[in-house]
Amino acid sequence: MNIILLGPPGAGKGTQAGILVKERGMVQLSTGDMLREAKDSGTDMGKRVAEVMARGELVTDEIVIGLIREKLKTVKAAGFIFDGFPRTLAQADALAELLEEEGQALDAVIEMQVDDDVLVQRIVNRAKEAAAAGQPVRADDNAESMKVRLMEYYKKTSPLIGYYYAKGDLHSIDGLGQIDEVAGAIKAILG
Ligand code: AMP
Repeated sequence: MNIILLGPPGAGKGTQAGILVKERGMVQLSTGDMLREAKDSGTDMGKRVAEVMARGELVTDEIVIGLIREKLKTVKAAGFIFDGFPRTLAQADALAELLEEEGQALDAVIEMQVDDDVLVQRIVNRAKEAAAAGQPVRADDNAESMKVRLMEYYKKTSPLIGYYYAKGDLHSIDGLGQIDEVAGAIKAILG
């Protein structure tokens, strides 16, 4: 089973993906994590994307599609959770092609709906908690980058809601509840 978790930054996609990995043995494919790894290990690509990410803008379709293509060709899994990918219509079309090439299907797109004020607060809290625990704070977890990330989401990613609705794949859930409530809503969809 292959699914997409769709939603703005801070909606809880990574948290829910982690639960699905534990409970179902699925594999999480987070382009954000892959890009941060590339940045931390200092690869050429990592260096190129670091500033774009810190500003909160999207990196090029070519880069993230390349990352996903590589994973789909090399990783065998009971199912993939696409977390933070696709973020543009071009990425969505590319994903459909890649899955078809691999003889795989997309089973569900789960849109996590969260109030914008709550999102900004969550991101600011995530940075505060990390700092208090002595953990590294994400370069883009600040109010300024967050505004850009939200704008990128509304301009470039939110059209995917209509795209997947039209394809018949879309399920929308309330992402505002407790973590286990949201997990329950996802379970109700996936069975
Ligand atoms: P995330 O961890 O998903 O919030 O992603 C962090 C940052 O990585 C984003 O703000 C973008 O700069 C970049 N990024 C992650 N996934 C994508 C994607 N699918 N397309 C373009 N940029 C991405």
